[in-house]
Amino acid sequence: MAFDLATRLAERRAAHLFRQRPLLEGPQGPEVRVDGQSLLAFCSNDYLGLANHPEVIAALRAGAEKWGVGGGASHLVIGHSTPHHELEETLAEFTGRPRALLFSTGYMANLAAVTALVGQGDTVLEDRLNHASLLDAGLLSGARFSRYLHNDAASLANRLEKATGNTLVVTDGVFSMDGDLADLPALCAEARRNKAWMMVDDAHGFGPLGATGGGIVEHFGLGLDDVPVLVGTLGKAFGTAGAFVAGSEELIETLIQFARPYIYTTSQPPAVACATLKSLELLQSEGWRRDHLNTLIARFRQGAAEIGLTLMDSPTPIQPILVGDSERAMQLSAMLKARGLLVGAIRPPTVPAGSGRLRVTLSAAHSEAQLERLLQALAECWPLLANPEEGADA
Ligand SMILES: *Cc1c(COP(=O)(O)O)cnc(C)c1O
Repeated sequence: MAFDLATRLAERRAAHLFRQRPLLEGPQGPEVRVDGQSLLAFCSNDYLGLANHPEVIAALRAGAEKWGVGGGASHLVIGHSTPHHELEETLAEFTGRPRALLFSTGYMANLAAVTALVGQGDTVLEDRLNHASLLDAGLLSGARFSRYLHNDAASLANRLEKATGNTLVVTDGVFSMDGDLADLPALCAEARRNKAWMMVDDAHGFGPLGATGGGIVEHFGLGLDDVPVLVGTLGKAFGTAGAFVAGSEELIETLIQFARPYIYTTSQPPAVACATLKSLELLQSEGWRRDHLNTLIARFRQGAAEIGLTLMDSPTPIQPILVGDSERAMQLSAMLKARGLLVGAIRPPTVPAGSGRLRVTLSAAHSEAQLERLLQALAECWPLLANPEEGADA
């Protein structure tokens, strides 16, 4: 029987994989109201606390007064306005690249870049833990698609030897579910040795990483020759919405000419670009946000180790607690929620089977006292979880 959706949904429930959308009843911030309950949240990607910043809000409001609401059309028709253009120029300067191109979402930026650069007869090599948008882009491109072992330059080298046509190597900068950094110095060296191009999606690195928030390329000091295609998203540490690709004049012009997810969509509201210009300014100039965040990260890792939690090799605000199966991940999340804390459980297929986890994310908007509340709750819940029977009663 075709379209037996009820069975499909029931199976998902039975496998503890059914997803539900928490309803947020106020702005982003550490203290949120969700489904009628006040909670202390550790699951947002608003790493620098800019999503609800008064100056960013004021810039959005002023932008709307001046530019209206809708983008009106695609960039190539009549939707490319002065704030979009100014933001592109500012992002180029920020990334130290000749040019940058603004997109409405990171998903689209990734689809656009990969599908415009490689096609039939070419090769795309991706880290097996890359973000879904990058994996989808690789499949959609029609290029020969292969995944190398996570962050493994030798595994990449092996595949590069067999690559045909133009070859694009694609990696997350900061891996979104593990929080670890791509070993870019080694990966870029392999790519260059084989005349392949490196594409880095640094959705989670821009803002938290680098002396001025310039992300993983600033962290490692990598230029245009190492990373010809650099992607950033604006909905995370920038606190707004959209994404960009930064690179050479020719790369950006190629995307404008050939990238279907760029051409066939309406531009983002220009007022959002006004807001991003303000948040970029704060992201660069307010180094205290990064310093405070790093203090919280260090304290969390120390406190979690004392409790005996299994953390991952992450120097970033993404600090997953490895739990194992989906049910246990859900249980721990529920126990924390009962204590007033919101931490998302991440389950397959978002992460590999058997690696269910709580994805704790920290933000510069969290206070040290709020972090202590999380550690205290984890210290209480973790021993209960070790014994599933007791955990279920908690
Ligand atoms: C969030 C994310 C994206 C998608 O960006 P959106 O702007 O939310 O569409 C792409 N890549 C990575 C690594 C991400 O974490």
